Amino acid sequence: MQFILGLRSKGITDPRVLKAMEAIPRDVFLDGTFQPRAFEDRPLPIDCGQTISQPSIVAKMTQALNVTPRCKVLEIGTGSGYQAAILSQLARRVYTVERHRPLARRAVRVLQSLDLANVTVITGDGSFGLPSQSPFDRILLTAAAEDPPANLLEQLRVGGIMVLPVGQSDMVQTLIKIEKTDTGLEYSELGEVRFVPLLEGIAEDIA
Ligand code: SAH
Repeated sequence: MQFILGLRSKGITDPRVLKAMEAIPRDVFLDGTFQPRAFEDRPLPIDCGQTISQPSIVAKMTQALNVTPRCKVLEIGTGSGYQAAILSQLARRVYTVERHRPLARRAVRVLQSLDLANVTVITGDGSFGLPSQSPFDRILLTAAAEDPPANLLEQLRVGGIMVLPVGQSDMVQTLIKIEKTDTGLEYSELGEVRFVPLLEGIAEDIA
């Protein structure tokens, strides 16, 4: 409950988003040592040197994406699978792409354990999007790009929304929302964020 009140105080007002955040336990996406801190509003380490995002940022991005029950959503940067699980509560179908195979594998297990059957995890380089399933109603990047990737903009349906962190620096980026209309792209800025960079290729992990 404290968790949801905290989100409200940070500007999360969409009841659908709050309900999804309440329904999905964050601790199961973390390793044992970090589980006691799962309901603090902080990013935390996951495997492969990556991080699970801060809950208020997950909620903010989800709210900005304005997902409806008919939406087919693409997420780039599965990480732990937590953001994908939140999206699964709001969308018809979620595809999520991760370049670290061990993270993708673990996310599949956790999502299955929660019976979230409308999420598909793909190991790959998400900067190319997922042409086989395009177009998407919503696209969310949870890794920072220097510019909005052209491949992803192409795979966004007219009337669709894309939310992503953009910036040159690894330290701080701007969260932006792009709406694709009949006449072109409309951009709005949603504040500063800090994400790991969008990297090329599938990672060479041992194991
Ligand atoms: N959404 C995640 C947190 C994202 S961390 C969660 O809810 O836990 C960002 C993730 O993006 C990392 O796991 C990183 O490996 C991944 N990533 C970075 N570049 C990528 C790319 N080109 N394709 C797919 N995943 C990528």
